Amino acid sequence: GAFADHTDLQSLVDEAHALYKDNDDGANADYIPVLAEVDSSLFGVVIITASGETFAAGDVDHRFSIQSVAKPFTAALVMEQQGVDAIRDKIGVEPTGMPFNSIVAIELNDQRSRNPLVNAGAIAAVSMIEAKDADARWAFIQDGFSGFAAERLEILDDIYQSESETNYRNRAIANLLYNYERLYADPTEANEVYTKQGSLGVTAKQLAMMGATLANWGVNPKTGERLIQKNYVDEVLALMMMAGFYDEVGIWAYQAGLPAKTGVGGGIVAVVPGEMAIVGFSPRLNEAGNSVRSLLAIEHIANELDLSLFKGP
Ligand code: GLU
Repeated sequence: GAFADHTDLQSLVDEAHALYKDNDDGANADYIPVLAEVDSSLFGVVIITASGETFAAGDVDHRFSIQSVAKPFTAALVMEQQGVDAIRDKIGVEPTGMPFNSIVAIELNDQRSRNPLVNAGAIAAVSMIEAKDADARWAFIQDGFSGFAAERLEILDDIYQSESETNYRNRAIANLLYNYERLYADPTEANEVYTKQGSLGVTAKQLAMMGATLANWGVNPKTGERLIQKNYVDEVLALMMMAGFYDEVGIWAYQAGLPAKTGVGGGIVAVVPGEMAIVGFSPRLNEAGNSVRSLLAIEHIANELDLSLFKGP
């Protein structure tokens, strides 16, 4: 297809890395104390195709916390366990138009958690996982994510500790949802598992393999294992298109036109359905909470290859 020329993909990844490696705009997230201490100069760019070929430049083997980039993958695991309607009925699939950790959004309507890519919906998604207790629920997520990455993923303990000591807002969200019967497990436990999930360490390469599983319609390109049903992938991608980019999801759709998910650890995964995943990792975030270099690099690749889903031939 259009991306068969692999030399070009490698030079494009190198180019995207070189173009933005000296961009020092933005700042590390600091509301989780240890995130502020991550080396701000780190920057990696990776493409993994649906057939598993990897093109990488920069710090692509550095482990960072997955943070909110976890959310679409947990939604996928819940769909796989309980069917696609479970997310729609018990959480919802509408964008909030509000910050990712909004409490106002919970109060505005009777859907409450709204969608699984904001904190309320993501904590609810974790609480939906059928497992005998919180440990088993966590094991299900860790195993599932490791399957997507095709490598064993582990928690970054310093991130988990730091976030556990400071996540009062998410505790409030979990309690509020429980009050409205929109949380499906004990709120303290659900929030702990949610915090573990965001503290999982991934490299840019591992995250790209997770994304490539979506690009390959639910089959991991490395192991060949089917991890989610093909007909659930479009629903995950639809969620990412509408709610994956914090308060810049509109301009992202406008300028890059790809479903993506960003996290405050500096990771971004974008998916070109049927073709590839593109990942950027760099800790400095813009005002909206999106990694500056990562978003520029992915946008550059998307534009050079005409990848926007909305572009004509
Ligand atoms: N651990 C973060 C929180 O829930 C995730 C934030 C993010 O990456 O959006 O506050």
